[in-house]
Amino acid sequence: MFSRRRFLLASSSLVALTPLLGFGSSTQYPFTLGVASGCPRDNSVVLWTRLAPKPLQGGGMPSGIVAVRYRVCSDPSMKTTVRQGVVQTSEIKGHSVHVTVDGLRPGREYWYQFYLGDDDSPIGRTRTSDSQALTTTLALAACQHYESGYFGAFRDLAKWAPDCVIHVGDYIYEGAARPLYTCDENNSKDLERQVVRQHNGAEITTLWDYRNRYALYRLDSDLQAAHAASPWIVAMDDHEIDNNWANNTPQDPWAQTELEFKVRRLAALQAYYEHMPLEHPPVINGIDATLHMHDVYRMGPAQIHLLDTRQYRSDQVCGQGFPADFPCDALQDPTLTMTGQAQEKWLFEHLRKSDAEFNVLAQQTWFSPYRYAENDKAKQWNMDQWDGYPIQRQRIIDRLADVSNPVVLSGDWHCANANTIHRDPLDSNSSIVGHEFATSSISSNCPWKSAVHDAAPLNEHVHYVNGDKRGYLRSTVTKNNWKSEYRVMDKQTSAEAKASTDYEFNTRDA
Ligand code: FE
Ligand code: CA
Repeated sequence: MFSRRRFLLASSSLVALTPLLGFGSSTQYPFTLGVASGCPRDNSVVLWTRLAPKPLQGGGMPSGIVAVRYRVCSDPSMKTTVRQGVVQTSEIKGHSVHVTVDGLRPGREYWYQFYLGDDDSPIGRTRTSDSQALTTTLALAACQHYESGYFGAFRDLAKWAPDCVIHVGDYIYEGAARPLYTCDENNSKDLERQVVRQHNGAEITTLWDYRNRYALYRLDSDLQAAHAASPWIVAMDDHEIDNNWANNTPQDPWAQTELEFKVRRLAALQAYYEHMPLEHPPVINGIDATLHMHDVYRMGPAQIHLLDTRQYRSDQVCGQGFPADFPCDALQDPTLTMTGQAQEKWLFEHLRKSDAEFNVLAQQTWFSPYRYAENDKAKQWNMDQWDGYPIQRQRIIDRLADVSNPVVLSGDWHCANANTIHRDPLDSNSSIVGHEFATSSISSNCPWKSAVHDAAPLNEHVHYVNGDKRGYLRSTVTKNNWKSEYRVMDKQTSAEAKASTDYEFNTRDA
């Protein structure tokens, strides 16, 4: 057992900082939201926690600077310390704690823990990346509406403990609490209206609201277990701020002005940073804020380009989403962008330099086309997905055609699929460029699943589609194969749901 006293005496810098602690055992337990790690590199990883003795009431820490100790060990029983230190936090960042630990060895497991006063955090397990490794395991997760179901998929994910978890957004939902409503799990129409547990309060718009909403989600033990099991890389989608937002434009500009939306965006980006194992806080300039989320990671045979398709996006054309207004000449505008020009240039540079066997775009919305009708009538496309940005999509496909084994990972639509990406994405007779694997959702419903299932025959490039079940995607990557296993939960309204594999795709067989 680790001795706190011995730890304090072991480091003179810690002794100097002890007067800052001022936070003893008389206060409530501060590590209610668990621990997390992220941004895995060959020699470093980011560790996270947040001090929140009253998690649903703004956190509940007294104001002022607090010093938190941490240790990183090479064993799960926390006996052999390889790194340790002290990090300060305060109410300025919601008493969140971010530590970049470097000097680590590639492809190694580490265990870590935070300490404040007499309190110890839960112990987390993390793992550095290994760019030379011959194999890696990756989980893909998205869309976890708290009211719609339990997070059993995260329990299954935590048991698997992959090298890295990729979360592509809708980590929280911004909506107001709805009345509890339980229903017959076998009645699929009713299932979409279920509320198994409630959001805290009205629709969230302020930093206080966003903090309390993240805290609500983070109190879930299955979500905490998934964070404590593996390092995560994360980029938000829309519901971390507001449905279908694009850059500084909300989906309902008639209901919130640009000024109001910018203030909301600033609060939401700050709260996202405070709850994620991210290296950098938002860059704030007046009321304009941006958060660095897109980045490149190398996990053995896979080079992962994590994209941010919201902060720099052009507003959706011809209707905000699904269904769209057709015909839509604006779709042919080459300046329409999901990523912004700078991020596109950054992506193309990394693709050009890559020597990886698999080149991955991990991003939010469905990349391949999905036809909902055979003609140009309304409902043919979803304008919030890449079908609303076809010229940029073609530019990306043209670049992917020049790299080894492109794989696109997607979320957003609460419906799992496996696609072949063609050089002309609308012509399944054109050459095959790569594959797309979309995860379903951890718990969010798919009320449009009949439209998706009914249209499957119109989409020859789609090998698998399933909007019925909640779950996540497991990928096992070797030099010669990318295996995607679609994990599904047997129930979403039960906290004891069981997981199984519904479908498996191997690129070596394609
Ligand atoms: Fe979602
Ligand atoms: Ca979404």
